[in-house]
Amino acid sequence: MVGEAVEVRELGKTGLRVSSVGFGASPLGNVFGHITHDEALSSVRRALQLGINLFDTSPYYGGTLSESVLGRCLEASGFPRDSYIVSTKCGRYVEGFDFSADRVTRSIDESLQRLRLDYVDILNCHDIEFAPSLDQIINETIPALQKIKESGKARFIGITGLPLEIFTYVLDRVPPGSVDVILSYCHYGINDTTLQDLIPFLQNKGVGIISASPLSMGLLTETGPPDWHPASAELKSACRAAAVHCKAKGKNISKLSLQYSLANKEISSVLVGMNSLQQVEENVEAAVELANHGVDSELLLEVEAILEPVKNQTWPSGIQS
Ligand code: NAD
Repeated sequence: MVGEAVEVRELGKTGLRVSSVGFGASPLGNVFGHITHDEALSSVRRALQLGINLFDTSPYYGGTLSESVLGRCLEASGFPRDSYIVSTKCGRYVEGFDFSADRVTRSIDESLQRLRLDYVDILNCHDIEFAPSLDQIINETIPALQKIKESGKARFIGITGLPLEIFTYVLDRVPPGSVDVILSYCHYGINDTTLQDLIPFLQNKGVGIISASPLSMGLLTETGPPDWHPASAELKSACRAAAVHCKAKGKNISKLSLQYSLANKEISSVLVGMNSLQQVEENVEAAVELANHGVDSELLLEVEAILEPVKNQTWPSGIQS
């Protein structure tokens, strides 16, 4: 059983000390299947007890449901506000994308109401590759987010998305210090490590690095990805083969995958979507085991060999791709 808390790491220049395992709250919006309020509450409470202090959500997840459920759970947990770090997003909604200054300025108020908070720690522009132009993010959205930061409703500003080029494009064009954090997903796991090449650039810019989806949004799990998963049939099949291989050896692909991502200490936090107390405990246990014993290198080599034909394969995202 888990006896130790997860480690904390500095997040860029924010001064925030985030848990290496972050709680991805998209499952609280039923994105990976239905989750009851009791399951959500026990997951969030257990995460806090075990030292997970970063919770990531968005108005997009479950059509605002994830934010509302997370807000209720954090409040009901009884943990003080300064013991956890909340990251939410703006610009992406079930109704579509809107990165206008007007919309994101209203968005933070709506998010705060749903989250039952006075401020969020990080406010991200959500999936900026879907903006009509990245220049809108640079010239309109980020300046609007700066005003939100000045108002105290968000402490730090981030940008998120899938194609890695969006980060270099934006960070090379905004005033230094106006973006505090980037959130990349599905680019630092056993099957795709392309975020690694961007890390020196991000460090040079003084930007904190959060990497999401170490299980590739369900690809690297025994149960497999949800129906909406955008990976090719080839990638899905290779990941399935890797999961079957691990299971046949009495090992768990999710544990290996999470440990692989966590082993890179240049990444401040790895956000994993969790929808049960059991997953919270398993993921914290994986982090503690990694810290004490390292990764199962024999199994990792075998899984890397299975995934080699699809290494770094991704999928299109956004209107520029
Ligand atoms: P993920 O790779 O973390 O996979 C989540 C899936 O893995 C869920 O089905 C979950 O039930 C399952 N899982 C978790 N722990 C497990 C365990 N121990 N054993 C078996 N299965 C387990 O993908 P994700 O949820 O998409 O990403 C994590 C979080 O990162 C999201 O919840 C979200 O907060 C954030 N995120 C942000 C963006 C963005 O900003 N554009 C994109 C993707 C993810």
